[in-house]
This record gives sequence, structure tokens and C-alpha cells, in this order.
Amino acid sequence: MQNNNIKNLISVPRSGQHVTEQALRIYYKLIAKEYYYCEYYSCCNCRPCKKCPSAYQKNHDFQIGTKNEIKINDTEKYIFFFRDNILQQIESHYRLTLVESKKIPHTNLKIDYNNLIKINNFKKFIIQHIEYYKKIYVKYLNYKNNNMLHIEYDNYIKNFSSSFEKILDFFDLPIDKIHIQYVKAHIQPELLYKISSEDSYYNELNIFIHEEMNKID
Ligand SMILES: [Zn+2]
Repeated sequence: MQNNNIKNLISVPRSGQHVTEQALRIYYKLIAKEYYYCEYYSCCNCRPCKKCPSAYQKNHDFQIGTKNEIKINDTEKYIFFFRDNILQQIESHYRLTLVESKKIPHTNLKIDYNNLIKINNFKKFIIQHIEYYKKIYVKYLNYKNNNMLHIEYDNYIKNFSSSFEKILDFFDLPIDKIHIQYVKAHIQPELLYKISSEDSYYNELNIFIHEEMNKID
């Protein structure tokens, strides 16, 4: 089979892809192995990567639900990066798109959803993306074979060393605790700003998301 070496790093946007790419890059250097990472969207848009078929490959599986979605098979390895809290997940993705469209200056900026226009714009984003989120969580979290590793973002960042060790082990890499500490010190895994249950609008948005999700079969 042509693509049985793809190392799939499937993530919902802003759930650990970037930190993993950086951490693996440093670790490979420490163990003196060649490292290939395919950005997919800005690289070849092709599975496996056209430049290096055995590369670690980023993907968000945005085409989920269409014939172009990723078909999970047991000859490839997959890590699925996600956040347990769907409101925090979608809100972080939303802030990223605002940065990309130059509406806000940086991705960690707190948005005040007490502003009616701002909350309504975010609700529109939720409606546009809720089907993707529902499908991708179900697809990857319900797949429990040992060629799939689930990495939850908050837990990943809080327990970086043990989580990263799991990732290394999953890809059959040698485990070196001192190297892992070096990686941790260099990437300084940090929690991105997240909307909080203390925020006055948290409940309204959380209920809205779950209502929208329940509308989808
Ligand atoms: Zn590529």
C-alpha cells in the first residue's frame, strides 16, 4: 500500500497541531533523525505528501461528510487533537479566523461578547461550523483502535511531558526523558486564552452551541 507510512496529525483548529509540530522538530534534532512535516494546506494538498510520503502530515479534515474526507484505515497512524470543551474550542477557532481576516490583531485577544454585534457574529460562526465539529468529534473519538491516539488540548498542555511521551511512543520513537524536558523548556507549552465559565456570556453561548448541535442528525 502506497500510503501506509503517513503519520496523520489530525486536529480541529487550535488544539495542539502547532505545538506538536515544534516539539517533534526539536526532538528529532536531539535524536539526530531527519524530520519531515507537511503543512498540507500550504504544502501539497495531497495525502500522502507529494514531497515526502512518510512525513508527519497536518490535516483538519475540513471535507468531512463529503467524498473527499479522510478515510480512516488501519494501515495508517492518526493522532486526533481536540478540546473537550466545545465552546472553548469553537471560540478559539473563531478568534483565529478574525486574526486571519485582520479584524483583530492577535489570536489571544479577549472578545467581549456582552456586545450584541460581537455575540451575534460569533453565533453565526457557530451555525456555519457546528456540523464540522459534530462530525469530526464523533468520527475520531469513536474510533478506538490502537492506530489512533486521542490528545485533549488542556490536558496536553498541563501535562506536556507525559502527553508528549505518549506521542513519541505512538510513533515508535525512542523515549529520552532528558530530551523531553529540553523540548518542554524550549516550546514552553502554554494555555491559550480561553473563554471562561466565569464570563457572563458563557452559559448563553454554551447552551446555544449544544442546541445547534442537537439540530444535526
Ligand atoms: Zn506536503
